[in-house]
Amino acid sequence: MSDNCATCGEFNLERFEGETFTVQYSGAETTVAGLSGRRCGGCDEVFFDDESARRYAAAGDDLILNERMRQSRNIRRIRRKLGLTQAAAARLTGGGHNAFSRYERGEATPLPAVVNLLHLLDRHPELLKDLV
Ligand SMILES: [Zn+2]
Repeated sequence: MSDNCATCGEFNLERFEGETFTVQYSGAETTVAGLSGRRCGGCDEVFFDDESARRYAAAGDDLILNERMRQSRNIRRIRRKLGLTQAAAARLTGGGHNAFSRYERGEATPLPAVVNLLHLLDRHPELLKDLV
């Protein structure tokens, strides 16, 4: 291939085959082996072949899904530990009346402030009485 880098415009794309890349998301990571494509000698940008791009993106999607499921389970665990209904937890954190139902099914991602409050209450459940 003699075309130029879409990122920096240099003309020195070099072919690579069978490389392993690491995908990271929110502290979790996974590796994808056997990827091929071209790498720019000017800016180091990587342009995967179609199949490699699909596999790399799928690994990232899996990480996001796993993280969302992990967070959903954790939110349900903390809410139950505090003895709150989903509606009461939503009143406490300012979400809509069905916010926790959606968080716990992984259909919505809570704001960091909600997650942080739940983590604090997980460690210090006695503070709940100061909030409600
Ligand atoms: Zn480049």
